[in-house]
Amino acid sequence: MSAAAPLSYDVVIAGGGIVGAACALAFVQAGFRVALVEREFLGSGATAAGMGHIVVMDDSEAQFALTRRSQQLWHALSATLPSGAEFEALGTIWVAADEEELAEAARKHQHLSDRGVPSLLLSCKELEAMEPNLRPGLAGGLLVTEDAVVYPPTVALHLAQQAQTLGAAILIGHAVTYLGDGELRLDDGTRLLAPRLVNATGAEAPFCTPGLPVKKRKGHLAITDRYPGFVRHQLVELGYLKSAHSLTTDSVAFNVQPRQTGQILIGSSRQYGNEDTAVDQPLLTAMLQRAALYMPAIGALNVLRVWTGFRAATPDKLPLIGPAPADATLWLATGHEGLGITTALATAELLVAAFTDSAPAISPAPYLPSRFNQLHQQQTTLQEML
Ligand SMILES: Cc1cc2nc3c(=O)[nH]c(=O)nc-3n(C[C@H](O)[C@H](O)[C@H](O)COP(=O)(O)OP(=O)(O)OC[C@H]3O[C@@H](n4cnc5c(N)ncnc54)[C@H](O)[C@@H]3O)c2cc1C
Repeated sequence: MSAAAPLSYDVVIAGGGIVGAACALAFVQAGFRVALVEREFLGSGATAAGMGHIVVMDDSEAQFALTRRSQQLWHALSATLPSGAEFEALGTIWVAADEEELAEAARKHQHLSDRGVPSLLLSCKELEAMEPNLRPGLAGGLLVTEDAVVYPPTVALHLAQQAQTLGAAILIGHAVTYLGDGELRLDDGTRLLAPRLVNATGAEAPFCTPGLPVKKRKGHLAITDRYPGFVRHQLVELGYLKSAHSLTTDSVAFNVQPRQTGQILIGSSRQYGNEDTAVDQPLLTAMLQRAALYMPAIGALNVLRVWTGFRAATPDKLPLIGPAPADATLWLATGHEGLGITTALATAELLVAAFTDSAPAISPAPYLPSRFNQLHQQQTTLQEML
């Protein structure tokens, strides 16, 4: 029996997490014939494990541009999302424990104001009134009002289903074994051909594209029983920035989120070099103790479930969005670390602009994979060896 003829599309996407799903919908809306391939289920991977905080970050101008643009796209999309997506613009309160962190809150406030992002500095008393379960005596905080939360797996499923309704092919249950030279191959021998392939396999991206500067960064989350009103905003300690910046050491930070169900999502941890999916008990304990340091009463709440997930981290903390060096058919949409829910929509928008040769909403330059010369050299060497 001869093998089935390959299927042809304009764009084939590997990975049905939030980034792949957002790309599928944006590409099909732009008029492309699209196929999306996922080995497990839509919205699995980090998308199922993440916190769903849609947050403007300002570590760098590039990070700010991508998170802010994407947040605007989330607000525009929100009216079309199903209720199960649990989109809510709750706002983030960056909690300042002491005067030094309050000065950082003031800096952040000015920085965001200069860029048109509304935020409000909170005194100690205002913080206590807004979040009565925080420990008394904290210095204050910064409320960033347009930050939001969603339930990411439901959104990913919704975006992919919308894409399917508009004509995209969705192939689930088989892993990609080869991606390059205009061809995607699955582990059952199926072949999909397209002039544009997109690697959106998150932290697994180096499997399909060897040599990518993407590493797994493990995280833990815990979810409690229902305690409506216990937390009212996404609360993040300003010290979070220090832990998120560390590229080598294990770290935890106070980061809690109220869910629409009344449950509280408690994070977060960051670990390199640990690819074991099992819960790391000492790190989990440290994470929960950190939460109790900021919210003493949280220690008495009933935790229902704890899990881990892997962020796709790059050396410069910016994602890889754009053409892959050394393969004219291959495009990358990975390396979003702890911001892939926030930035999925702007990622898709940047790729549409590149595919249609139209003006992008923000400059694509900071995210281009070609910034990693090492990657370029590695792939060139590989090509020469073949
Ligand atoms: C603990 C934790 C908390 C987080 N909190 C937030 C947050 O609050 N806000 C935020 O913006 N981001 C957050 N993130 C980051 C966010 O979850 C990720 O950046 C985002 O989900 C990445 O989406 P993705 O589609 O690129 O990857 P994934 O969601 O990992 O999707 C990749 C998909 O590719 C599939 N796949 C992999 N290999 C293959 C293959 N060979 N063949 C076929 N399919 C394949 C996988 O099954 C998976 O479904 C958090 C992450 C973690 C771990």
